[in-house]
Parts: sequence; structure tokens; C-alpha cells
Amino acid sequence: MPATKGTTVHRALELLFLDPPDLRTPERAQDCLTTALAEMVTDEDYLGLELGDAEAADFAASAARMLERYFTLEDPRTINPIGLELMLSTELGSLTVRGIIDRLELDAAGELVVTDYKTGRAPSQAQEQSRLGGVHFYSLLCERVLGRRPARVQLIYLGDQPQVITTSPSEQSTRGLARKLEAIWSAVERACEHDDFRPKRSALCNWCNFKAFCPAFGGDPSQAASMSKRTGPQRTLDLAAADAG
Ligand code: SF4
Repeated sequence: MPATKGTTVHRALELLFLDPPDLRTPERAQDCLTTALAEMVTDEDYLGLELGDAEAADFAASAARMLERYFTLEDPRTINPIGLELMLSTELGSLTVRGIIDRLELDAAGELVVTDYKTGRAPSQAQEQSRLGGVHFYSLLCERVLGRRPARVQLIYLGDQPQVITTSPSEQSTRGLARKLEAIWSAVERACEHDDFRPKRSALCNWCNFKAFCPAFGGDPSQAASMSKRTGPQRTLDLAAADAG
């Protein structure tokens, strides 16, 4: 349910920014949410939740609260978006990397700013740096596709403790990420070559579709064969698919 709610809130904010600046009011945002919810009624993931009337009302109320919190963090009338839900893709060696930027804008100085909405819980101070590590990916995409590194990348958290976390990517951080991605991909290719996939337990296991077949949890991987028809690595790393929003 959190991911589907995140999709709904992202869509409402996208619709809000399609309006001219002076129309981007809290009331208009709630209208956009009504539209987004109407679109979700035919969405496969939303239908899969099988919400009853009361649960659907809770879902809508929770999404509405996120939009209210959004207005405590910034005034959308002052934002100059130049791209919404922007899919960017680039090649790194033999690998294609791609990601969707929620909002790309120009600040008052004409610099690029990337905004990523987060509808989950804001990170603790200890987790903050690791969460920011991922945003350099957006910087890499902008640099490769648009020829310019963004001056800032900001994460806007719309959960219980709304906050904005901002970082300024540098040439070093962006280059470091490109090297890291290439190293990860080489490791993936080596693992495929030797059919050597060792399970590594982490908190993410709770979201893993293969947990029931995972040897780390007493499962039998051979039983999972029917879940994947692929015989080699997919040559695309998709940040959009990996981003829980
Ligand atoms: S449950 Fe999934 S993520 Fe966790 S170790 Fe097993 S395969 Fe990896």
C-alpha cells in the first residue's frame, strides 16, 4: 500500500505543477488528488490492494495529509519546473542506466535543481548520508543527458515528519558514483558467468519476492525457476523500479 499511495501523491503533485504558478494552491492540490485517485481506480496495483470503502477513505485521507504537509515545506508558486516525471537514460560502458526525475527545475540563478518526493518515513540523522548517496544518480543522469550537473538535489519527505534534505553534487561525487555503478555491474556479470549468487540477508529481505525460495531462510532456489525466464543479466539498471518513492 505505501508504494501505491506514493504513486498517487506523486501524480497529484505532477498535476499541480502542470498548472500555472498562481493556481498552485492547497485547494488546487486537493483537486489534483481527487483526479489522481480517480485514475488509480483502474490501476492494477491499486486494485490489487482490494480496499474496502473504509480503507479506501483512509488511503485518500492519508494521501491528502501528505499534500497538506507539502505546503509546509515549500511554496509551489515560486517553483519554475522544466520537467516533470522526466525519464532520463544513459550508457555506462555496456550498461544502460535510467531513472525518473520527479521534478527538474531552474532556480533563481538559472541553475538546475532536481527534486525527489519521498512519501515514506524521513531518515534518522544516521541514515541521512546513505539516503543522499542515491541522489548522486540523478546528478549523473543530468550531467550525461543534459550536459549540466544540477546545483542541488533535494529530497522532500512528506511523511509524519516532513522535511527537505538537500545536497550539492560535485564532480567528484558524480564521477565516484559512475565508477561504483561500473564496479557493481562487473560483479553482476561475474556472478552470472559463474552462476554464483550468494544470499545476503538485510532489512530489504522483507520486500523480496524470492524470500520463500531463499537459502538464507531455508528455501530451495531451484523452486523459483518458474519466476524468472531470464538466462543472463538484464543490461539496464532502472532507478525508477528500485525507488520505493
Ligand atoms: S530474501 Fe531476497 S534479498 Fe534477502 S537474502 Fe534472500 S534473495 Fe537476497
